[in-house]
Amino acid sequence: MNDAVLHLGRHLRLDDNPWLASAAMTHERLLPVFALDPALLRGAHQEAFLLAALADLQSALRALGSDLLLLHEPPPAEVRHRYDSPLRMIDDGSLPFDPLTALRSYTPFRQRVEAAGVRFSQPIDAPRRLPPLPEGVVCETIEAPDIKQILAGGASPALRHWQQYLDRRLPDTYKQTRNGLLGQDYSSKLSPWLAWGCISPRRIASDLARYEAEFGANDGTYWLWFELLWRDYFSLRADHTRVDSVVPDTNDDRWQALATARLGHPFVDAGVRELNATGFLGNRMRQIVASYCINELQWPWAVGEAYFARHLIDYDPASNVGNWLYIAGSGADPRGGRHFNIEKQQEMYDADHAYTEFWSERA
Ligand SMILES: Cc1cc2nc3c(=O)[nH]c(=O)nc-3n(C[C@H](O)[C@H](O)[C@H](O)COP(=O)(O)OP(=O)(O)OC[C@H]3O[C@@H](n4cnc5c(N)ncnc54)[C@H](O)[C@@H]3O)c2cc1C
Repeated sequence: MNDAVLHLGRHLRLDDNPWLASAAMTHERLLPVFALDPALLRGAHQEAFLLAALADLQSALRALGSDLLLLHEPPPAEVRHRYDSPLRMIDDGSLPFDPLTALRSYTPFRQRVEAAGVRFSQPIDAPRRLPPLPEGVVCETIEAPDIKQILAGGASPALRHWQQYLDRRLPDTYKQTRNGLLGQDYSSKLSPWLAWGCISPRRIASDLARYEAEFGANDGTYWLWFELLWRDYFSLRADHTRVDSVVPDTNDDRWQALATARLGHPFVDAGVRELNATGFLGNRMRQIVASYCINELQWPWAVGEAYFARHLIDYDPASNVGNWLYIAGSGADPRGGRHFNIEKQQEMYDADHAYTEFWSERA
């Protein structure tokens, strides 16, 4: 009998899932599996997001005659890479140059991609039907946790969110608003779904190209693509340069300072409070917190990286390490790191202290 097990890892969707599509075509019976490694330390927000995503995927698989088996063990070593690496917007095969030759820093990489005229690789549609499970296999129903999260896990909320983002023409203003701190609309908020593969970056880029064809390309649509390319860049770098996250020591004073949002500057502490309360932080505030930890407090970058890894609902190993290293000046930054002047940043992005006050009141 032609049975197969498919470890889904960070590809929790039916749409544009090449591994699922190919396994569905080549096997008579197929068992989709998610291995939830109990050894991984996860924050409550991450766990809630992931379980909701798994429950959503299970319903979608059941609707096509399949199911999802949740295993409480680490994934096998041979699927670890696919398990941990969400899909990129541009496949390696679509790059007309060896990515290894262009990974030293982002700008030359982007320039070579643009010179080649490659925007994204074509997404593939979801399978219409799936093979049944191997005989005798029963999958328990995965319960979505009863926690209200603004960004809920799963491919269905992801697509709804992305559709409303397009319908409200928010890409047009993305370039002006992307450094915002308060509210839902200043940036796309796609990262948690991208990190767990609830939505495909190739689908996003292809929808964005259709949007540009209908409403016209502008700074905003370009900049959204430009940021998605950063994600590809860090993902490629992570494939070619091994940097491991550290296992956090949760009794360490520095970890405790983060857990209680007491780093010593009200603006920075407001950022840590937002992260602790929601599992999310906008890009500008991530940069400010990271720069403060590295440059003002003189902590090794890996301390903050480990904390973000535990708390961000969009935690993506490649992007998290890549960005921390970038600010520390040990990674993809030819300028040797980023030292943000915190007072100046507050003047620029929180002049009326609305953000700082919003999060102090929720301490
Ligand atoms: C210290 C630090 C740690 C970070 N850790 C992570 C992480 O673990 N996971 C993660 O997805 N992003 C991480 N980022 C990148 C970035 O902050 C988030 O992707 C972004 O804030 C998510 O919000 P959004 O979806 O609204 O982004 P948007 O501004 O709407 O951007 C659209 C998409 O582009 C990608 N993107 C944007 N900026 C970056 C970037 N600097 N690096 C990589 N991809 C980017 C993301 O996939 C994002 O969803 C980190 C940044 C910093 C400074």
